[in-house]
Amino acid sequence: IKKIGVFTSGGDSPGMNAAIRSVVRTCAYLKIECVGIYRGYQGMIEGDFKPMDARSVNNIINKGGTILKSARCEEFRTKEGRKEAHDQLVAEGIDALVVIGGNGSFAGALLFNEEYNFPVMGIPGTIDNDILGSSFTIGFDTAINTVVGVIDKIRDTASSHNRLFFVEVMGRDVGHIALNAGVGAGAEEILIPEQNLGLERLLDSLKRSKKSGKSSSIVIVAEGDRIGKNVFELKEYVEEHLPIYDVRVSVLGHMQRGGNPTCFDRVLASRMGVKAVESLLEGKSNYMVGIRDNKLILTPISEAIKAHTEVDEELIRVSDIMTT
Ligand code: ATP
Repeated sequence: IKKIGVFTSGGDSPGMNAAIRSVVRTCAYLKIECVGIYRGYQGMIEGDFKPMDARSVNNIINKGGTILKSARCEEFRTKEGRKEAHDQLVAEGIDALVVIGGNGSFAGALLFNEEYNFPVMGIPGTIDNDILGSSFTIGFDTAINTVVGVIDKIRDTASSHNRLFFVEVMGRDVGHIALNAGVGAGAEEILIPEQNLGLERLLDSLKRSKKSGKSSSIVIVAEGDRIGKNVFELKEYVEEHLPIYDVRVSVLGHMQRGGNPTCFDRVLASRMGVKAVESLLEGKSNYMVGIRDNKLILTPISEAIKAHTEVDEELIRVSDIMTT
């Protein structure tokens, strides 16, 4: 392998830049060429390439987002689109790929490898932390710290007015962000897709909380929660059935995807980038780099994309105990 192409794809996450930097610098260290591919698979199809050396990634480790931009690309889902991408890569002399993204991006890379026997290596970049084969994805730590910071602020105003807040957080179909940030910020209840508390239990819990003399209540609601009502409907429901509360809603939205990455995410991204390039040079392909018990591991992409990880039971139990 003489020239590696690196790109970010799907939803962006804080720490992707640190991963790009790591891939580029590892290539420089090992004296092989590195090419940045802009806008994910879309840029690959259009030949939007830029050679990158160690200096071209100065001062990006601390920045959120991705300097290579990201995109979703329908064309790459077609055989013709992938052929076009392959032609562009061959013309540029790129002979291996590092893809930084989520499940969809990995599925595309796997298909591409099957069709063209093109070496690919994945690095998990998503705030949702939902990828099998890694205890942590790049961006998750930053996101939960952002959410905890915001909930702390919401609590200041909630307790000044004795209010109940429903705070909706991201996380797709899993409750990692909600559960971790909820425990970290001391939320009264945490509604996650993995566990449907039911509306009755929510009302009981809120009643108890009020009786026990709490001056404010924060309920974290994961966007993928299955209680059957969104945060606005929950507000109406509680106002109707529990008029003792003055209820407010806050949907945190895309702020959760932005911001400077935490040190944890920067270090994780740096480690994963080195491992991805070294693994390709060792002749490995079709793997995703992950971390478990603080050791970097490789999981076949075909395994990694099979399912989402779920939150662990032990943390649910801790949360149950903390919310009594
Ligand atoms: P996120 O964490 O934001 O979901 P992701 O990588 O899962 O990130 P997707 O939008 O699912 O994001 O996928 C990114 C891109 O990967 C798609 O726009 C498409 O170009 C490509 N892709 C996804 N699934 C496939 C597939 N089955 N075959 C070919 N390409 C795919």
